[in-house]
Amino acid sequence: MNIICIGRNYAEHAAELNNAVPDKPVVFMKPPTALLVNNKPFYYPEFTKDLHYECEVVLKICKNGRYVQPEFASSYFDQVGLGIDFTARDLQSELKKKGHPWEIAKGFDHSAVLGQMVPKEEVAVENIEFKLMKNGIPVQHGFTKEMLFTFEHIICYVSQFFKLHIGDYIFTGTPQGVGPVTIGDKFEGILTTNAGEKTLFETEVR
Ligand code: MG
Repeated sequence: MNIICIGRNYAEHAAELNNAVPDKPVVFMKPPTALLVNNKPFYYPEFTKDLHYECEVVLKICKNGRYVQPEFASSYFDQVGLGIDFTARDLQSELKKKGHPWEIAKGFDHSAVLGQMVPKEEVAVENIEFKLMKNGIPVQHGFTKEMLFTFEHIICYVSQFFKLHIGDYIFTGTPQGVGPVTIGDKFEGILTTNAGEKTLFETEVR
């Protein structure tokens, strides 16, 4: 199972980190050991002093495919959910400066919080609204129509390089409002479904 992640997919988030808006999707991977599911607590890692949260809409892949063509792309995911792309920003900044890969800053154990998935028919899939609450206060509020690259574009693009498999996850990038994590923080990911707001994950930082 692959966990494919997209960086800088919202212009205002790229700006808040002083990154240029990309002309192609920025793609990286997390290993399966990065997953943190079932609302388990997250343990603040020792190797960073500047851990950040990034709440993202996650797609679940439901068909195998390579070189997916645009007209078929939407049939390659059947469920959507929310997750956190935990990022060791201090390590990432150092690596970026040197032009080195990001993996240790983004793919470490439990860096991919993943909540409950819902069938895509239960949301406004053309413009999904989502929120991240930190200690009961909304810190990120996103609408997927603000993404630079649509779900379909991402699926076509990444499937040129990585064969998509049933059960893969795609983290589709974070909107503005990322910020630091402190031990004791409680995060809650809320998705707007056709039936109203639904909490898809909760995790406490220890
Ligand atoms: Mg991210």
